[in-house]
Formats: sequence, structure tokens, C-alpha cells
Amino acid sequence: MNFLATKSISYLIIVPLFILASKNSNDFIQHLSFWISIPLGVVILDLSGYIFHRISHEIEFFWRFHEIHHLDEILDVSTSLRVHFLEALFHAILNSLFIYAFGISQESIAIHALLSFLFATYHHSRFKIPVSIEEKLSLLFTTPGFHEPHHDIDIKNNQSNYAFIFPLWDHIFSTYHKYTFKKEWVFGLSYSNDVDAIKSLVKPLSKDAGK
Ligand SMILES: [Zn+2]
Repeated sequence: MNFLATKSISYLIIVPLFILASKNSNDFIQHLSFWISIPLGVVILDLSGYIFHRISHEIEFFWRFHEIHHLDEILDVSTSLRVHFLEALFHAILNSLFIYAFGISQESIAIHALLSFLFATYHHSRFKIPVSIEEKLSLLFTTPGFHEPHHDIDIKNNQSNYAFIFPLWDHIFSTYHKYTFKKEWVFGLSYSNDVDAIKSLVKPLSKDAGK
């Protein structure tokens, strides 16, 4: 059993939840043209992701689950899989509320899921390009250099650069780290050692979680 298996469990609940929310939602954005409503749905779901990610850092209960993702001391593609299945479920519940409230279509949900997977894989990777180019690209979408401060061992630094796909949210809500691309970062959490996949399942319920 590894992190891929624990993450896969969550999809057994998330997919039916999203279909249910979309089928029963109002048509707040669905009456717009296809070419507007589909990308707008993707942008709204990314905003939901930003909000949930920020809550996961700022509210102790949610940090207990998100902490597992940040314990990784070697940032690479596998880091993107380190998500507790209950965290994935809480995130899906918030997304479902947005889907229901805005009438986000199943097409938007599918495109958002694909883009989230691709960008989470990319911004946790070590795929390096010249910093001058990456800095400009990161105005449009998340990149490894954009995401690195978020995994710094200093908890004050990781309360920044929360965006999944569009860094726009960090600029709008003033959570963009001013030293992004300007210093080297050390990954993990200074107060705790890493845990394996099995221990990560029960760690959020233990006394020392989130400390
Ligand atoms: Zn985080």
C-alpha cells in the first residue's frame, strides 16, 4: 500500500459526489455560452482549491491532514500523491458546494480534474527551465519555482503560494511569497520527521499531529 492507493480510495466517493452536485445544481453559469461557462467553471473550481488549501494551513483540524503532504523532505512528483483520503474528501465537499452553487458542468469538472493533476505533477517536479522564463510563466500558471516556497521547512514560509493552477489567487489575496525565485528552499517540516504511507493514515488522529 502506498500513497497512490490511499489517494485512489477517495475517488470512489468523490466522483459520484461531483456528478450528484452537478446534476442537481442551478444553472447560474450554465446558461452562458459553452465557451464561457466551461473555462469559468474551471476557474471557479481552482478558486475553491485555493480557499481549501489556505484553510488547510490556517485551521488546525485541517492542517492535521494536510501536514502529511508537507512532511516530504524530497520534493518530486511523488509529493503530489501524498494526500490523506479524508483531506481529499473534505476538499471534494467544498468543491461540490461550488459546483452546486454555480451550476458547474461535468465538462468543467473533468477538465479541471485533468489540469489539476497535470499542474500538481508539474509544480512538484524538478523540471527546471531558466529562472527568467519560469518567473514570467508563473504569472499565468503554477511552476516548480513558484511552488517551492510553499514546501519550505519554516512554517511561516509555507503559508504562501497556495495556488493549484492559477497563481492569480495568491496575487489577489496577498499570499504570494516575496522571495519566490529569489532564494533556495529546504523542504519538509522543521518540527517533525517524515512518516510512511501507513503511518500517515493515522497520524492526523494522533496527539502530536500538526505540531
Ligand atoms: Zn500546503
